[in-house]
Order: sequence, then C-alpha cells, then structure tokens
Amino acid sequence: MRAIQMVDLKSQYHKIKPEVDKAILDVLESSAFINGKPVQDFSDALAGYLDVKHVIPCANGTDALQISLMALGLRPGDEVITPSFTFIATAEVIALLNYKPVFVDVDKDTFCMDVESLKKAITPNTKAIVPVHLYGHTANMEEVMKVANEHNIPVVEDTAQAIGADYIFSDGQRKKAGTIGTFGATSFFPSKNLGCYGDGGAIFTNDDELAHKAKIIAAHGAAKRYYHEIVGVNSRLDTVQAAVLNIKLPLLDSYIDERIKAANYYDNAFASSKHIKTPFRAKYCKHVFHQYTMQLEDVDRNGLQEYLQSKSIPSMLYYPVPAHKQQMFSSYGSADVHLPNTDYLTSRVLSLPMHTELEEEQLQYITSSVLEYVNQ
Ligand SMILES: *Cc1c(COP(=O)(O)O)cnc(C)c1O
Repeated sequence: MRAIQMVDLKSQYHKIKPEVDKAILDVLESSAFINGKPVQDFSDALAGYLDVKHVIPCANGTDALQISLMALGLRPGDEVITPSFTFIATAEVIALLNYKPVFVDVDKDTFCMDVESLKKAITPNTKAIVPVHLYGHTANMEEVMKVANEHNIPVVEDTAQAIGADYIFSDGQRKKAGTIGTFGATSFFPSKNLGCYGDGGAIFTNDDELAHKAKIIAAHGAAKRYYHEIVGVNSRLDTVQAAVLNIKLPLLDSYIDERIKAANYYDNAFASSKHIKTPFRAKYCKHVFHQYTMQLEDVDRNGLQEYLQSKSIPSMLYYPVPAHKQQMFSSYGSADVHLPNTDYLTSRVLSLPMHTELEEEQLQYITSSVLEYVNQ
C-alpha cells in the first residue's frame, strides 16, 4: 500500500506529468514570465467554468480577499462580519486594512456562517460580510444574500476551499460558489481543490466597475502603466502557475468526483458509529470535500490522533484555535465574544486524509483503524 498522506500531490502530478512538464517548458521557452498568454487563457477558461463575468487573477487567496475588500472602498474602523471558524487569512486581511473584524458563529452542521448570528451582528457600521465556504461546503448563500441585500451590504465570498462547489437556490437554480456575492475570492495553493505548483489566487465578480477597480488595485493602482490612480498592491498570478492551472482546470470536475467518492466511502464506513458524526451535506449545496472533517463524540481526540499516527495515518485539526481567540486579535476584545458553536466544533473536529488519489485499500485501512480506536 502506498504511504498515506493528508494530500498526495505527487501521485496526482504523475498522472498529468507529460502535459504539465510541456506547459512549463513552453513558458520557459517563451520567457513571458509575467502576464504571459497562459494567464489570460486561464482567466477566460475559469470565467467560463464558473459562469462569471470577470476573473481577476492574483498572487494568492489572501491577496484575493484583500483586493476584494480594498475595491469596496471601506473606511478605517468599518465593521466586516466574518465567521471565527475559518483559516486566519479571512479575518487577518480585515484587520490589516484597519477595518474591524466582527466575528459571528457558524452552523453546527455545515461549519459555515450562521445566519441568525449574522443578523444579530449587523450594525449601522457594518460595511461588508465575508462568508466562508469551509471544507468545500457552501454557506447558506440565499439567506446570507437576503440579509445583505436588505441592508445594502456587499458580500465577499471566501471560496478558497470550495472552488467548483454548487450552490442550489430554492427555485432549483445552480450557481458556482464565489459567483453569488459581490466578489468571490479563491486560492490555488497546491493543496486546494484546484491547486497550482506554488502560490496563486483569483477574484470573481459580475460587476464591471468593481472588476476594473480590483484589476487596477492588483496592478499598483494603474490602468495605464506608470499612471497610478489609487494606492494598490502588486499581486499577479505568474505565468508558470497559470500554465499548470490550464492543464488542471479541465480536470477539476473529475477531481471533485474523486473527493466525493472518498467522502462516500468514509461516510458509509462510519455510518453506524455512535462516536462519529460524518460531514453534513445541506440540500442547497454540492459539497466538494476540500476536507473530510468529522465530529467526534466521547472520543479522546489526542489519543485517536496518536493511535492513527502510530499506524502511519496522518490526521489534522482544522482549526485548533478559532480566529476570535487568536493572540493577534487580543486587543480587539474578541476573545470575550461568545460563539458557542465555534467553541463546540473546535473541540470535536478531526480531519482525515482527503485528496484525489486515495485508493480503496488506503480508505479501508484508515476507516478500520479509526473504528478500532473509537469503538474500543
Ligand atoms: C487557503 C485559504 C485562504 C488563503 O489562501 P492563500 O492562497 O494561502 O493565501 C483563505 N481562506 C481560506 C478559507 C483558505 O482555506
């Protein structure tokens, strides 16, 4: 049996090695390292895949969030609502731009923004809402947008973990995660569902004016080279990464299928265990399983992790400390905020290996090892 990893990038690469190697060598030969043709080709292809008007490529997912927020033209001290149960980047960029992160709770089933908690957090100073599609499951966007539209507040979807996920509206209409709010922001970090071989990110929007603004912010605030209208940043998707993504984007749906297959295997194996709550799949969402994160019931989590480690099975805590309890926000008084579901989930979650190359033999070994420990 192949060694089990949280993410197996190498086996995936080996399946597409000739195409990827050629694409990278073509970039070297063209020497158009910055904004070469593959960057525009990729942006166009991704816009087609997502069915969104504008894709603005940038250097990473954190920049995609930052540039989206900058384009909204908020003022220092403005409040931006986001869940605490997320990767730190979401909240960090809010603070970096001198806005005030306002942390809300997540839903106990979906791990995504709880709409009641969102409603309670809205004030006259709320100037943006940043839901996160965590682990590949979408937030309840129809409800989030209802609240946002009622108060005329823009929404930036953090879809770093959910590219390719579908949100299904109550009338049956489907939209890709990241194309429902004012902006979507994603990451092509290697382990993400659509990963490149370094850093990369992108912003999506259907708004022409905001697209233009985001585009110039990513380019030192200049639409015309050396004529700088506003203060921006330098954030580009490099050509080599775009070339890799051009090979991988057509495979994204098959990658998602592989992840769902692995998730189904886990779900079936754990279905009758009273110690494991398997990931919830809301009817409004096609889950793309960036992570397979279960909730443990009456299980010594450290003990389970050590047991799995002793059998060469990696597992991870996403995330051991929620954003509102991170030291970086201690001066915001956010540790005093009461987020019961966030605290509850933080104490219970454990993520198992999840990627496109999991073999049945590996899944069988992982699930039987988990069950051995939790049922003892
Ligand atoms: C990975 C991730 C980011 C940041 O992406 P980078 O490309 O690493 O900057 C932001 N938000 C979430 C939820 C993420 O998982």
